[in-house]
Amino acid sequence: MSAVKMDGKALSAKVRGGILAETEELKKRGVTPGLAVIIVGNDPASEIYVRNKEKACAECGFYSEKYALPAETTQEELLGLIAELNQSPQVNGILCQMPVPKHIDEQAVIDAIAPEKDVDAFHPVNVGKIMVGNFDFVPCTPAGVMELLAEYGIDPKGKECVVVGRSNIVGKPMAMLLLHKHGTVTVCHSRTEDLAGVCRRADILVAAVGKAAFVTPDMVKDGATVIDVGMNRNAEGKVCGDVDPAVMDKAAYMTPVPGGVGPMTITMLMKNTLKAAKVQHGL
Ligand code: NDP
Repeated sequence: MSAVKMDGKALSAKVRGGILAETEELKKRGVTPGLAVIIVGNDPASEIYVRNKEKACAECGFYSEKYALPAETTQEELLGLIAELNQSPQVNGILCQMPVPKHIDEQAVIDAIAPEKDVDAFHPVNVGKIMVGNFDFVPCTPAGVMELLAEYGIDPKGKECVVVGRSNIVGKPMAMLLLHKHGTVTVCHSRTEDLAGVCRRADILVAAVGKAAFVTPDMVKDGATVIDVGMNRNAEGKVCGDVDPAVMDKAAYMTPVPGGVGPMTITMLMKNTLKAAKVQHGL
């Protein structure tokens, strides 16, 4: 048996089509969703992400602004730009591509973005809202995973859901979203004992570790749904996930890398930007 591939590229195209249609309706009412993307320094991976975000904005009919700042930019200068963007009526969403250079405090940057424009949903106000379960913005990667599950008719309700990884951007919010959908959620990390045993309990297993082929077939229950968030480079420089491709023979559903969670992440950013525009215009 080989798992059904959960096609994030196809679902992403479908969702973006819906966003474009809604944007066209909004434009008739004089509202164009706008996203400002800031990048500090020239990390090659970040440059690719930012380019893909600009491309997605164009595909969705959004207005976008890009600020490519030199690596020597001071924290004060960066926070000054964010303060201006917080006031800009054309900009509904602000995103600062992480990581920022070491002399800049990442949390200070996150805290500076107005919560209503924080389309990454990293600001403590938005993080708190996600915890409470009453939120406008959902962190993009976990939101993309939830859309993929829904598209393939996989309901977390009552299921054993195991999330490997507890980062603020993936693991923790992923666990909260699964919990809101009534999953029985376990979060694993580098100190978890008997990780393989815990993973084997999972009906839905989410890997967000950052290590190539970390999840092996012996860690997966027959017929499980396996979501691979990982984006790693193997020895040949090829993009690969956290899950060993051999897991395909054990799982019932699995996301490929590339073409699974990755495209959904950017699409969810677009969805949050559309939402921000609507909320800010009282629509
Ligand atoms: P982090 O490095 O912030 O977190 C990794 C997590 O994995 C940590 O919680 C860590 O545990 C845990 N971990 C590390 N080693 C082990 C181990 N041996 N056993 C169990 N747990 C372990 O990564 P991110 O959450 O930011 O990203 C995870 C992966 O997802 C990366 O490959 C990243 O590139 C990818 N990613 C993909 C996105 C997409 O759009 N597809 C978006 C964002 C990320 P501990 O806390 O104990 O250290």
